[in-house]
Amino acid sequence: MAKHPTPKPWIADIHAYVPGKAHGADGRELVKLSANENPLGSSAAALGVLGTAGQPALYPDPDCNALRAQIGALHGLAADRILCGAGSGELLHCAVQAFCGVGDEVVFSRFSFSLYPLLARKVGASPVFAADHDYAASVDNLLANVTPRTKAVLLDNPNNPVGSWLPREEVERLHAGLPGHVLLIVDQAYAEYLAPELDDGGLELAARHDNVLVTRTFSKAYGLAAERVGWATGSPRLIDYLNRLRGAFNVTSRGQAAALAAVGDQDFVAASRAHNTQELARFTQFVEALGNHGLRPVPSKANFLLVLFEGAVTAEMAQNALADAGYATRWLPGQDLPHGLRITIGTAAQMDDVMAALRTLLDQG
Ligand SMILES: *Cc1c(COP(=O)(O)O)cnc(C)c1O
Repeated sequence: MAKHPTPKPWIADIHAYVPGKAHGADGRELVKLSANENPLGSSAAALGVLGTAGQPALYPDPDCNALRAQIGALHGLAADRILCGAGSGELLHCAVQAFCGVGDEVVFSRFSFSLYPLLARKVGASPVFAADHDYAASVDNLLANVTPRTKAVLLDNPNNPVGSWLPREEVERLHAGLPGHVLLIVDQAYAEYLAPELDDGGLELAARHDNVLVTRTFSKAYGLAAERVGWATGSPRLIDYLNRLRGAFNVTSRGQAAALAAVGDQDFVAASRAHNTQELARFTQFVEALGNHGLRPVPSKANFLLVLFEGAVTAEMAQNALADAGYATRWLPGQDLPHGLRITIGTAAQMDDVMAALRTLLDQG
């Protein structure tokens, strides 16, 4: 017998989630353009209630009733089709835990949210990386990787770290190609950044089918990453399974109050989207003009740009130069993108700095 508690055999092979950096190699604090946080901060309405929300001695509403009602009103969803979580991450965990285990497969595009392989491995299932189509998810390749062992397909749309986006017809085609017992999870963490006419139809699929779950978060365009609030919607049956697995009292009183106020301040969301649209376009054009240096932007619909470095100046050199200039960005060798640097869209002044630092690096090199 071992002298210490022995975890399940697959646990030791899992690495902890790697968050975006906030410090340089020398420990200096950097401006974080590494975690896709909102450069405009948070809604003033949310900040206003955070100071006074809840009594710390009392447990929060275990079912987030007021918040679920408010989300339901905004999106036209019944409350029994909504579940709130400690970030959408908790709900992604619950969904994979509910349906996947040892011997099962979880399919997603090769370049997807770095949490996805961890979700599969934590429950002893195998992550399956479907080949991309020029970095974006390929519906054909996702479907080609579905086997009798497949229990769930994960699609982040827009995608992280690429920023690519599949339109409604493609998401519908993906769903139509899946057997009814395979869960399709559409992770819409960046949906609020999309132009209003761009809708991947995920919410409609989740309203009509028993095997579709959509997740959303307050961490990005709503600017509440620290409060850890997300939500999911699907059939009442699906929501009931996830509800059994989530943590009791999973969303704090502060988180519930701040998210409630944030849902009520759609002007802040619209301002965040407008800012992002403008600065993302400006930064994308800047990178496009550097093709002669081997730089290439991957077209993004999220709040970051994946810049590919295919010339003499490498992504690692760019990451280091930007760190010297005071900015943390996300170099992605661990995600099979050693030539990729994901840069979150910051304020206009921050983007000016980033572009100046890249320009200086390229002029030297
Ligand atoms: C940032 C992000 C999330 C949000 O996670 P939370 O737990 O809600 O903070 C979810 N999915 C993707 C793809 C993301 O990039």
